[in-house]
Amino acid sequence: MDIEQAMRRAVELSRAVLGTTSPNPPVGAVLLDSAGEIVGEGATQPPGGPHAEVVALQQAAGRARTAVVTLEPCNHTGRTGPCSQALAAGGITTVVVGCNEPTALAGGGIQALRESRVEVLTGVLEQEVAAGPLSAWLHRQGTGLPLVTWKYAATLDGRSAAVDGTSQWITGPEARADVHLLRSEVDAIVVGVGTVLADDPSLTVRPSPGHQPLRVVVDSHGRTPATAKVLDDSARTLMVTTGPSYGEERTLVVAGGDRVDLPALLKALADRDVVSLLLEGGPTLAGAFLRDGLVDRVVGYVAPALLGAGPAVLEDAGVGTIDDAVRLHLTDVTRLGGDVRLTLRRNGTAAAPQAAKTQGRG
Ligand code: ZN
Repeated sequence: MDIEQAMRRAVELSRAVLGTTSPNPPVGAVLLDSAGEIVGEGATQPPGGPHAEVVALQQAAGRARTAVVTLEPCNHTGRTGPCSQALAAGGITTVVVGCNEPTALAGGGIQALRESRVEVLTGVLEQEVAAGPLSAWLHRQGTGLPLVTWKYAATLDGRSAAVDGTSQWITGPEARADVHLLRSEVDAIVVGVGTVLADDPSLTVRPSPGHQPLRVVVDSHGRTPATAKVLDDSARTLMVTTGPSYGEERTLVVAGGDRVDLPALLKALADRDVVSLLLEGGPTLAGAFLRDGLVDRVVGYVAPALLGAGPAVLEDAGVGTIDDAVRLHLTDVTRLGGDVRLTLRRNGTAAAPQAAKTQGRG
């Protein structure tokens, strides 16, 4: 196996742990023996557990010579020992790195490896790696804020429900299953109180992957009824208000006058180790996030159906004229059953600038 194939395998391994590693980065590691055969694989374990490199080293049991890792091995002793040291001690003679570590705290791994006479190759498939499972973590390191993905499901004419309010199953089973996968990969799901009042969603991942993202309800004036599913015990919930309380543990008061200040909310969520969040609705909250320039990525599930009337997926996004339209870049189009999933990123805020940022370092 060549090192690019091994790097792509490492990315794949890290994708499987998305949503379980925050605030740590989801890293993948593949170890090869002198013949280029895989002898160890690993991905970051939940906080406090071993890093990807250590998991892979244990599996390789001394046979590995080359380590292929998506992110520069850490060089600091946090809750676990430095991976740079573990690799050098584990008989590794070459380390292949996708992205460099952007934080001063954990950085220095490449230098430490070289000082231990380990050969280090950097920037291997860097842009591809930076745009993959590491993208939200890199965004958080660069901006201090979580990566915000706005997800919606709509008819071809952009409606989220019929004129009588019925909205069940706009998209088919494949698209709905994909939404659950998307949820399982983030740290938090955010909705507005309007969505809670209209649909009473449980906002959990089904079937449960063993972890559930934090449920966040933006409810400035405390209108969520005590019987709402988001307040049940199936996952943690944070009620974001301008004053009303749902109990100390699950209330986050974000002052901002009449309405919750969204930049302040994102900062508060970042402080609670939220690295990536999924904004699920409704149209008013999505519009407010877009007006504040806080949406980094959009995932739209579009059904081949027309309604002609009924609520739109998006309301006032602060656009009054065509020149002010929110322009997005299409990064993926996937057919899911009879529906289409469009993935787009906002200019200059998602993965690509992070790739540029780490380019040429090390
Ligand atoms: Zn490490």
